[in-house]
Amino acid sequence: MKAWEDKIRRVVPYTPGEQPKRPVIKLNTNECPYPPSPSVEQAMRALDADTLRLYPDTEALPLVKALSAAYGVEEDQIFVGVGSDDVLAMAFMTFFQGEKPILFPDITYSFYDVWAELFRIPYEKVPLDGTFHIGKEDYYRENGGVIFPNPNAPTAIAEDLDFIRDILRHNQDVIVIVDEAYIDFSEKPSAKELLDEFENLLVVQTFSKSRAMAGMRIGYAFGSRELIKAMKDIKYSFNSYTMNLPSQMAGAAAAADQDYLKHTVQKVVATRERTQKRLAELGFSFPKSEANFVFASHKTKPAREIYEALKKKDIYVRYFDKPRIYNYLRITIGTDAQMDQLFDALEKILR
Ligand SMILES: *Cc1c(COP(=O)(O)O)cnc(C)c1O
Repeated sequence: MKAWEDKIRRVVPYTPGEQPKRPVIKLNTNECPYPPSPSVEQAMRALDADTLRLYPDTEALPLVKALSAAYGVEEDQIFVGVGSDDVLAMAFMTFFQGEKPILFPDITYSFYDVWAELFRIPYEKVPLDGTFHIGKEDYYRENGGVIFPNPNAPTAIAEDLDFIRDILRHNQDVIVIVDEAYIDFSEKPSAKELLDEFENLLVVQTFSKSRAMAGMRIGYAFGSRELIKAMKDIKYSFNSYTMNLPSQMAGAAAAADQDYLKHTVQKVVATRERTQKRLAELGFSFPKSEANFVFASHKTKPAREIYEALKKKDIYVRYFDKPRIYNYLRITIGTDAQMDQLFDALEKILR
């Protein structure tokens, strides 16, 4: 062993879903099957390359202003980042640094423990109940902070505002982060409704799923002025110019088109309802989805076998080889035509 080898900071990185190089039916990373708002393409075409000589606005002001107008949140209560992964990483760095463990569900977005390890934050995974629901009482104890997605991933289960309020009431001494990557697909309201009640609440959302812009890398957070200021101080101590100008312009254009967002979400939700019906007929069970994916388990055929058989047919879904969920598939909602191809393939595989 070389002497410097123990100087290397070692981490086990997050493993994203596969991005195959050839065209397949891609139902494995919860992307949107429809294009972004037409106003995004207009904004991209209108971009003058000469403006790229200059550094972009550090606060991403065009985007922040558009988000402020779209959501009725003050500009100084908005933090933007390069995807919500960037926003969440900054939030972990800013808010989770005590001795006590932060709490998050055992079955959840698998980036949380990666950041906790990277930033050396002690953490405890709190088991979901037998039906994959978060037990709110499990979070009524001393901790160094709380984070959970709502709707949760990969379960697709959403909790209502009272549930989140109860968790906040019992956690007034720490920061509570609600990761709302899938909230637009849910009937439940965003926790941003609670911002006036709780100064220790951070609500994180993304353009990657409902706004069909995963490739643009845009995420944002709403919180009290104090939380947002603290995050900006960390960000400017790390890399001031994270979000490039084209992303700021495209993001602002997308945020200004709330009608298109609603329209896209309606299409995905309609296909999701159809998909759940068909999957049930094929012998799958799943929690009722409030996201753009279904977390399904088959009554006889092991999930891994279905996953591999689908892959051979160029249909990619997500499989997690992990305790408690190794017999589940996370299936992203695609277009109706894509889902029909999935159902045809499943009929053959399950015969
Ligand atoms: C997809 C996802 C994110 C990150 O999305 P970005 O593309 O980085 O904005 C964050 N949290 C959850 C739960 C997700 O599923």
